[in-house]
Amino acid sequence: HTPLPVAELRVQFPILAQAIHGHPLAYLDNAASTPMPLPVLQALETFETQQRANIHRGVHTLSQRATDAFDAARATLKDYLGATAEHELVFTSGTTEALNLVAQGLWAGGPGHAWLRPSDRIIVSGLEHHANLLPWQHAARMSGAQLDILLPDAEGRLHEADLAALLDVGGARVFAVTACANATGERPPYEALLRLARQAGALTVLDAAQVAAHGTPVLAQLPDCDFLALSGHKMHGPLGIGVLAGRREALERLHPLRLGGDMVEQASYHGARYAALPARLEGGTPNIAGAVGLAAAARFIDQAGRAAIGAHLQALRAQAVAGLQAIPDVRVLSPHATDAALIAFTVPGVHPHDVGQLLDEAGVAVRTGHHCAQPLLEHLGCGPTTRASFALFNTADEVERLIAGVARARELLQ
Ligand code: PMP
Repeated sequence: HTPLPVAELRVQFPILAQAIHGHPLAYLDNAASTPMPLPVLQALETFETQQRANIHRGVHTLSQRATDAFDAARATLKDYLGATAEHELVFTSGTTEALNLVAQGLWAGGPGHAWLRPSDRIIVSGLEHHANLLPWQHAARMSGAQLDILLPDAEGRLHEADLAALLDVGGARVFAVTACANATGERPPYEALLRLARQAGALTVLDAAQVAAHGTPVLAQLPDCDFLALSGHKMHGPLGIGVLAGRREALERLHPLRLGGDMVEQASYHGARYAALPARLEGGTPNIAGAVGLAAAARFIDQAGRAAIGAHLQALRAQAVAGLQAIPDVRVLSPHATDAALIAFTVPGVHPHDVGQLLDEAGVAVRTGHHCAQPLLEHLGCGPTTRASFALFNTADEVERLIAGVARARELLQ
């Protein structure tokens, strides 16, 4: 493939064209949230100025336009995720809601209906963001199931043999894992892990938040994935919109998280018959504009080309690993994770918050702290870190500014 036209792509992000403390903004916080390009902003404007109305319940023209736009957005995102006829896609407010919908949906059905029962086991990887851990802790408490953690080794890697050993005990009903750890960049062998878990009879959950903008798994090629979650704002889409996609048969097992309008076929004072998928899991007025904007973001990414974006991000990450490791004492987490779009590191003797502040003064935006993955960082014996994360508009020059800023922070503060 041809190299990514970074300069051409970059000018499509108006928010990047500003100075921070007198320096051009180097936005390296894309793992937390990515900015929106013009095509997405324009799609939102068109929707808000020409189509905005509530969906489904209106016969009037605007309602019909909004419904068509919402349906088209779903089709675009199904395409983006490589969904087949066996898959369905539900809009959520983000990854967090998608994962809560799955976890709660598997225990909330009541006796005789819930997938999770006392004495079942839930296995969650030890690499997870709190959003793919806390809902499972709660599901275990509510269902009486037991929660087991598939721990990574000292380098932060997950191993198939360790999962096989956990599965051998029997009774595993759920296995949840990330496609890329947001705190380290680790890319677990999730295809093989999902396969093992599914063969053992578990429903499988993949958190795709950190790969949404470049390495999104293709569902058609991932037959062992029952549920996949991602957030729009991590793939150049709007805030407050996300996706739960998955195998129809698995989604059918979920008790809805939101009961109310638009998700029933028929209701009486004392009971209701829920609608079919996807409406059954989308109670209430959805974020219609968000879905429209997210579809525009998916088209934008595919136009740039996911393979070209991935190659560009790998090059930036490799440059950052080499440059930061060359600074004495700096510890890079998961340096072997070559296809991550993020790099987390520590500078012994310097608090990440101070590193982040010095970088901000130089116009370089990074994130510091536990990155909502406190158990993992504790397991790795590491504590809070500084994290830089890349998107398709970032340049080698910006990575150089990151490296120089970290070197300076170490000299000033250590
Ligand atoms: N999982 C991972 C791996 C993430 O990186 C994030 C966002 N930091 C989330 C889940 C939660 O996403 P959101 O806050 O958009 O719901």
